[in-house]
Amino acid sequence: MNAFQAIAIFTCLMLTTLQQAYAKSTPLNIVVDIPFVASLVEEMVGTEDSIVSLINENNSPHSFSLRPRSVRSLQGADLIITVAESLSPNITQALSNITDARVLNLAGAPGMLHLPSRNQHDHNASIEELEKASQRALANEPELAYTRIDPHLWLNPLNVGVMVQAIRDELSSLDPSRAQMFEQTAETMRDNLRQFDERQKNLWSNATDRNFVSLHDATYYFEYQYQLISKGSLFADTHTPAGVQQLKALKSIIKTDSVRCVVTDANTPQAWVNTLTEGLDVSSVSIDILGLYPEDANYITTLNHLADSFAKCLRLSTE
Ligand SMILES: [Zn+2]
Repeated sequence: MNAFQAIAIFTCLMLTTLQQAYAKSTPLNIVVDIPFVASLVEEMVGTEDSIVSLINENNSPHSFSLRPRSVRSLQGADLIITVAESLSPNITQALSNITDARVLNLAGAPGMLHLPSRNQHDHNASIEELEKASQRALANEPELAYTRIDPHLWLNPLNVGVMVQAIRDELSSLDPSRAQMFEQTAETMRDNLRQFDERQKNLWSNATDRNFVSLHDATYYFEYQYQLISKGSLFADTHTPAGVQQLKALKSIIKTDSVRCVVTDANTPQAWVNTLTEGLDVSSVSIDILGLYPEDANYITTLNHLADSFAKCLRLSTE
């Protein structure tokens, strides 16, 4: 090798190293559907990376319609993370038009617990019956499975642990130079989730009141984990207007099934809550399942908010 060749090879090596260094420092653009998932990603990546949540306090995942700004975010994303196709059908629809999108659909992550979407009738079915129905749906009609599952998968700490693993794997393949950091953070997060689960299991094992009704049927995964019992709900989508008849029907469930708690959300009109609770020994509580508030809410504070709200509403002693 002469001096010229040596210099040429050295220059090539230098350039490659520089390119790698540049690639390492390129921030990631990640787009997610809901703030809760954004908080999982935020915990794992650095401040130089960008995370955009399509859903905010002004829209519901179920009726969300994409604005041009959201479409541009999706088109420029290195990674798009969605909870489940049935959570936000409009986002799923938009993704089908972006040919080279890298999409992580968390519902499909290995080990995820799926529960079937239930209607009013299903509130009377036992957990075992529903579980069987879910397994049948997943086994016989896999192509339909993800449109039939209850999409609020993140309201169970074990499912959140599965999400953390899936996000870690995806981030590591996007940026292998940070794989070790992703791994360590994911482990800490999974420890936090296990501790949350243990504490809740202990608390709820002493519960005497477990019956509640809700406006939006969104907390099935939490109920399932801690054996709470939803006796009924008004609708699956918070934006469907409720009629007087539906409110009356729910009120009669509260009376006949010894329900102690009505779960609402930020969009529930106060008049509905008054109608449901008037004259009865029943509490009401508003739950933020998306992780919208406060602004610095993370996955653990959102789950704690959910658990504390249920505990307060069902008058569970948390001492
Ligand atoms: Zn929902």
